[in-house]
Amino acid sequence: MLWMLILIGVPMLFGLYAQSKIRRAYEKNVRRGSRGGITGYEAAAAVMRSAGISDVEIVQVPGQLTDHYDPIKKRLALSEMNYRGSSLAALGVAAHEAGHAIQHKVGYSMMTVRQTMVPATQIAAGASNFAIIAGFLLAGSLFGNTMLMLGAVALTIIVLFQLVTLPVEFDASARAKAQLVELGILDRDEMGGVNETLDAAALTYVAAFVAALGSLLHILMILVGRRD
Ligand SMILES: [Zn+2]
Repeated sequence: MLWMLILIGVPMLFGLYAQSKIRRAYEKNVRRGSRGGITGYEAAAAVMRSAGISDVEIVQVPGQLTDHYDPIKKRLALSEMNYRGSSLAALGVAAHEAGHAIQHKVGYSMMTVRQTMVPATQIAAGASNFAIIAGFLLAGSLFGNTMLMLGAVALTIIVLFQLVTLPVEFDASARAKAQLVELGILDRDEMGGVNETLDAAALTYVAAFVAALGSLLHILMILVGRRD
């Protein structure tokens, strides 16, 4: 029970904290306009142009913080407020996604590894919940233990995926911060709002990794405990 509290409860609280932090950072900095007034769309286009990328289309997608880069379709998707807006948050997010496009173009190794892991991770994510629930419900039986082991394998894949996601996200933000200043999109004294937004976003990826790791260790402890 104590281990469950530590391995599941603490990461869950950390996750909630990270979620509230990004929401607060975004809501604050989406209201802070940039001096130059160029939009997220223009910033993403400028960052990619400076890296010699001309075959990635930038599209607007519905929702808030739904921004992402799709390496398969070569499409950079920005949510409405980040696409049209010229806030510090919008420019930070737009440049971050452009950072992913640059990683793709230069063949950044961690991104390649992450992309290779996507299919296996999707299967693992689908299988892990079923396996773990079945494992707990049929605890003690051979089938139950087999399900728990299957759950542990699936969680290991998810943990590794979350782990390689970290350098990919940190690197995209580092590229974004450097490019926004270098290209004169933002002045150095405006970077506080960008840093706050991107660092809070990065924390959610750390939280996702910690949560997956906690779940894996919990299952492993149960499996080891049962064999004694
Ligand atoms: Zn990202």
